Formats: sequence, structure tokens, C-alpha cells
Amino acid sequence: MSTFLKDFPTIRAFAQALASRKFSAHEATTALLQEIKTNQALNAFVDVQPELSLAQARNADNQISHGTGALLVGTPLAHKDIFVTEGWRTTAGSKMLADYVSPFNATVINALYEAGTVSLGKVSCDEFAMGSGNEHAATGPVLNPWDPEVVPGGSSGGSAAAVAAGLVLGATGTDTGGSVRQPAALCGVCGIKPTYGVASRFGMIAYASSLDQAGVLATNAEDLAWLLDAISGFDEHDATSIQVCQGVANAPGRILNDYQKHVDAYTGNKPLAGLRIGVPKEYFGDGLDNHVAAAIEAAIAQFEAMGATRADISLPNTAYAIPAYYVIAPAEASSNLARYDAVRYGHRTAQYTDLQDMTARSRSEGFGDEVRKRIMIGTYVLSHGYYDAYYLQAQRVRRLIAQGFQSALTHECDVILGPVTPTVAPAIGSVTKDATAEWLGDIYTLSVNLAGLPGMSIPCGFAPGHRGQPLPVGLQVIGNYFDEGRMLAIAHAYQQVTDWHTRRPGGAA
Ligand code: GLN
Repeated sequence: MSTFLKDFPTIRAFAQALASRKFSAHEATTALLQEIKTNQALNAFVDVQPELSLAQARNADNQISHGTGALLVGTPLAHKDIFVTEGWRTTAGSKMLADYVSPFNATVINALYEAGTVSLGKVSCDEFAMGSGNEHAATGPVLNPWDPEVVPGGSSGGSAAAVAAGLVLGATGTDTGGSVRQPAALCGVCGIKPTYGVASRFGMIAYASSLDQAGVLATNAEDLAWLLDAISGFDEHDATSIQVCQGVANAPGRILNDYQKHVDAYTGNKPLAGLRIGVPKEYFGDGLDNHVAAAIEAAIAQFEAMGATRADISLPNTAYAIPAYYVIAPAEASSNLARYDAVRYGHRTAQYTDLQDMTARSRSEGFGDEVRKRIMIGTYVLSHGYYDAYYLQAQRVRRLIAQGFQSALTHECDVILGPVTPTVAPAIGSVTKDATAEWLGDIYTLSVNLAGLPGMSIPCGFAPGHRGQPLPVGLQVIGNYFDEGRMLAIAHAYQQVTDWHTRRPGGAA
């Protein structure tokens, strides 16, 4: 585990140390690059370019010495290998893009550079962000810093592992069906996926465009707010980017780019008095591990102790989230991935007879099993004769799921709390041998993307893993559209009275 960030485990602590010249950004970057090397066995980083990171660090030091540094100046981050980046390779975890270097940066990456952050490199993800364990990356599985025998979660597994191991203070991720929240939960860190449209998708390699959304991972809610402030905002390069965000009465930080300012809105003896928490009964049914359930219930009780009131609610269409998502996401993926034809983009096979043979061979060689499976499903559900039965039907279910959330969040509660995953991190190799077992673990996260809502995961305890070893449990916080400010503020309030978020693998607090 990293030792450098032990004494400066949050962006605030790190920024203060930089400002008081305890170390320079260059010294910090040098130390962390060394720690990344020492922790190579985690397999989290897939491209490290020390000279690029150190140049950014020197630039940060310059700004600090001139007093012109932005909020996040010098903050060491890692970026999911699905965001295109100048200088560092972008492979989307695929052989298809093995040596690809983008000529431009994704908007989210540029925004974080403008905020002064230093990139320590690209981190592993499931191929084209398809997966729940980071076992489908062309570079092999990423190990969970809590236990090298278990997965870190996916698809942003490299991001979560890098933060949990203390190699960076934060990381970017993307969440199409849970890929920020789920690895954050399984690695014991925090992660937020904002409302669809809040962060730009420009330069994020597309998986399922109507569901894909950028997010961030860090060690506490306040840090998430700093990072989300940086990445959110309108982008004319993304047709689904949101231009104007309407404030909603009586809640802190509803205005885009203002999360950090409002993060400690809830203070006092009963900071959450008046807050209504919805607890969906469908999130506590069959399949939820008893120990995970106990950790979630304890967290909800803590929120109640802080003044919140509990409403037991029902989201009756939850069971249909998996079938609906695994029709819609593959359908969009089959269309998005058509561009890798070995002519416009992607790996080209060495030997072929004609154009069709070249494309077929190149795609067979370039894509891994999970991606090929989804392209087949997607093509099937969009084909003539099956479109109405599968794709259209899934879109109807999607609408019903969104309506279910709206009804609960309008009439019964302000936020929804529940588990992120049914179990703690499973052993590497244990779920991928069954074609759909991995998909079942997405039950509590997919609906949030189908509805376009913001979702967050924060550490709330531990439960026994496959050998009885304690592994982190994540609490999911789901809010209404544009309610990220309130979600972050209540998470921050929770983190003022609990210390789950400060626990680190190896026992160091
Ligand atoms: N596990 C889900 C899938 O495989 C979600 C992935 C994601 O959010 N990128 O599609």
C-alpha cells in the first residue's frame, strides 16, 4: 500500500500541505510514480508516462508559487482508460485499440487539467466498459487492494483500486450501469455518477450512449464534490449535455458547479432533521447477503439517528432492470462498436482475402468474448422481427422504472438508500464462468442509469468475503435529477460521525 498519501489522504489535506510547502507537487508526483511501480502487481495502471506527469506537476508548482493555482492544483489523479487522452494510450481495455493514442483530450480530462490536477496515468477497465469485475480487460484482471484474490469491481476497477491503494487521491470513471458505484463499493472508496447530461461524454469511448455518464471516485464525499465541480458543465461537443440546471427549492448545492460550497450544509445536533429517506423493499430481497444487509441497515439507522425519517417504499419494477438493461445496452453497443471495422478504427488482421474477410477477422481478433457476446445480443434484439418484442419492450420497461423513481422521489422521500451490490467482492474467476451470473450482481445499480438519475456509493461497513475475510460494503444514495448537491452534503454529514471512509487496506486508517 502507498505510504506517501497516508498523512494527506484527502484533497483538502493534500492541498493544505502543498500550500504550506510541506512538499511540492513535483515531489509528490515523483513519490507516487514510485509507489505505482511498487504496486505494479495490482495491475491497476495500464499506461504511465512519468515525464508527462512531472511536467504537469512542475506547472502546478509554478502556479502555486505565483499564487494562481486553481482549486485542485497539484492533485494527483488517475484516469479510466476509456477517456481519450493526449500523450497516454487509450485502449478501452481492448486489443482493438491496443496502441491508440488520441490526438485530443476528452472534455472531462481537459476540465480536470484546467483545475490544475496532475494525471499519474491511465487505469484499467473492462473492455469497452462492459463488465462488473474488471476481469474483461485485455491486460488481465485488476486485484482488489483489500485482498488480491478478489475482484475490485468493474468496469472502473482500476480507478477504484488506485484510490483504495492510496496511489492517487481521486480518479475518473464512467457509469453505464453501475461502473463507478460498484467498484467504489467493492474497494471501500466513494464514487458518484451524476444525473445523465451533467458531465460531458465527449471523448469518452462510447458503450451505450443513452446510459453512459462520467463520474469520479475519491476517499470522501467532500473530495467527490471538488472533483464533480470540475467535471460538470455544459459542453457544446456533446448533444446530450445539459445547458441549464434548474435549482430545486430548499436543498443545498442544486446549482451545477457549486457542490463543494454546499457540502457542509447539514450541521448541528440533528443535521438531517426533515430529510426523508426512502428504503425500497425490493433492494432487500432474495440474493442480498445477510451481512451486507446488516451493514446497510446500520447505516440507515445512523441516518435516522442524525434526524432523518425513514419511509419504506416500493420500486416494483426493480426486477425488470436486468433484462431491460441487457437488451438496451447491448443494442446501443452493437451500433457504437460498428465503427471498429479495421478501416476507420481499430486493429487490422495481418492476412485477409477481401474487405469483408478483413473486417470479420479483425473484429474476431480485436474484441474479447464479453464484447462479442454483447454485439451478438445487440444485433439480434435490433433485427427485423425482434425489434418490437425486445428492444421496444425494454424501452417501455425503462420508462416504467423511471416513473417508479419519480413517484417515490416526489411523494415519499427526498433520497433513496440501499445496497450497491448484493455481496462483497467475489473471488477472481468465480462469476465469469457463468454467462449471466456477473449480470445479476448489477441488480441495484442498473435502474439508476435507465432512469438517468444521480447515484453514489459511500463505504458503510464490512462483511465477510469468500474466505471469511472482511471486505468493504458500499451504501448507495440515489437522488432526484440534479440533486447531487444534497446527496454529497448528506454523505459528508454521515462521514462527520462515522469513520468507514477512512479505513484503508492493510489496517492503516
Ligand atoms: N456491469 C454493467 C455492464 O457490464 C455496467 C457497466 C458500466 O457501468 N460500464 O454493462
